[in-house]
Amino acid sequence: MKKITFLFVVTLFLISCKSKKEVVKKKTVDTATIYANTITTDDVEDYVFTLASDKFEGRATGEIGQKYAAKYLANKYSNFGVKKYSNDSYYQTIPISALTNKKRGYTPKNPSENVIAYIEGTEKPDEVLVISSHYDHMGIKDDKIYYGADDNASGTTAVLEISQAFAKAKKEGHGPKRSIMFINFTGEERGLLGSKYFASNPVVPMENIVANLNIDMIGRIGKEHPNDENYVYVIGADRLSTELHNINEKANEKYTKMDLDYTYNEDDDPNRFYFRSDHYNFAKNRIPIIFYFNGVHADYHKPTDTPDKINLELLVKRAKLVFYTAWEIANREERLIVDVE
Ligand SMILES: [Zn+2]
Repeated sequence: MKKITFLFVVTLFLISCKSKKEVVKKKTVDTATIYANTITTDDVEDYVFTLASDKFEGRATGEIGQKYAAKYLANKYSNFGVKKYSNDSYYQTIPISALTNKKRGYTPKNPSENVIAYIEGTEKPDEVLVISSHYDHMGIKDDKIYYGADDNASGTTAVLEISQAFAKAKKEGHGPKRSIMFINFTGEERGLLGSKYFASNPVVPMENIVANLNIDMIGRIGKEHPNDENYVYVIGADRLSTELHNINEKANEKYTKMDLDYTYNEDDDPNRFYFRSDHYNFAKNRIPIIFYFNGVHADYHKPTDTPDKINLELLVKRAKLVFYTAWEIANREERLIVDVE
């Protein structure tokens, strides 16, 4: 009887040990997730409301509001410990001549700036992943500020948060193997002019750029997805690299679990979104890209695209998908293969 009791107690003890172990195992998160979780609704709210504030006056290319925004972004990168791409500046200055769009009869009053920040890779520093957004918008028209909260304070906010996450990882000994360049383009609303200038005057050789993840409008629910708070449009992922498409799919399957909508990735998409944001200036050079997008809505290119309408949780989730995809591209053994003609 005693012996049986003893055995019973031992067995109970072993069972409890096992279940404790299981609990511990469940709580362990992978390294990428530790840093993905630094992307928060509090930060996102702060950045979106600042970038889409009255002070920034709709961030028209070459105007004072865009200059304030550029300064704000450079200060953020500096505070995060994300370095300048060159020794002297976060800015790539673009002359008026390169910002003049003859077709649209547009000439800015002043030169403008792409904002570029950089984290050097620990093992393959010459291979560079570019994560980008445009930060310019339409400025003031008829005395109304076009705030551009979704277009594209949302994407610019995501790029800031992703840079902060990678910077923290690097500080704690988990820096990306490949280099990552964070670029906020100007002149997008005037015809992708900032990214066009970058592609003709790249600060690293274009052949060293392994991929571009471009974010343009991820803070809202588009008109094709009423009441759907768990999707993002993915455009271009499989057009040059099957691997890139698969990496993004896997990241979503494992972590963010959204519906990836490929409608606008169809070759015959009448909207031609593949050609309509800054990533195209990389894609045309055969650099694999992904364009993350929520689709258009009633406030698109209107003064009513305001920060109070941004879905902060959804913005965070979409930014995390970009982060996880970037983490894999930057840390995997082999460079992405361009295999699609
Ligand atoms: Zn845009």
